[in-house]
Amino acid sequence: MAYDADNIFAKILRGDAPAFKVYEDDHSLAFMDVMPQADGHTLVIPKYPAENLHDVDPDALGATIRTVQTVAAAVKQAFEAPGIMIAQLNGPAAGQTVFHLHFHILPRFDGVEFRMHARDMEDFDKLEAFAERIRAAL
Ligand code: AMP
Repeated sequence: MAYDADNIFAKILRGDAPAFKVYEDDHSLAFMDVMPQADGHTLVIPKYPAENLHDVDPDALGATIRTVQTVAAAVKQAFEAPGIMIAQLNGPAAGQTVFHLHFHILPRFDGVEFRMHARDMEDFDKLEAFAERIRAAL
């Protein structure tokens, strides 16, 4: 499948769609997942137009992973999470629903189950408050 420049994350990168941003540099962007599986669920994407892990430039991937590490530490601190899960899905069979490469940063707590993947829209005021908490921990 060819990269679709009209996917929602490409629109966010162009400023054509809104996002609750927590971090941005020349190579990557981090923002809140609007249908989170846990409070603090954050996404990191490269600015490079890659559909998935298989077609990303390795240098762009390296810069993106660096951002994942930075933002994951901030999410862990902001939500006092004992565990952080990183997830990254490639292809519909793996559950990928947005076809611009992204890494999920998910706080985990003993005994707390995830909510359903990409199902329930979160309250926007809550997402902005969560984004501010993460920005303050960066
Ligand atoms: P995946 O299934 O790995 O492709 O994950 C895509 C993720 O993007 C899901 O967790 C969705 O909840 C999330 N998502 C979809 N649209 C948006 C959006 N406009 N802003 C932020 N997150 C989104």
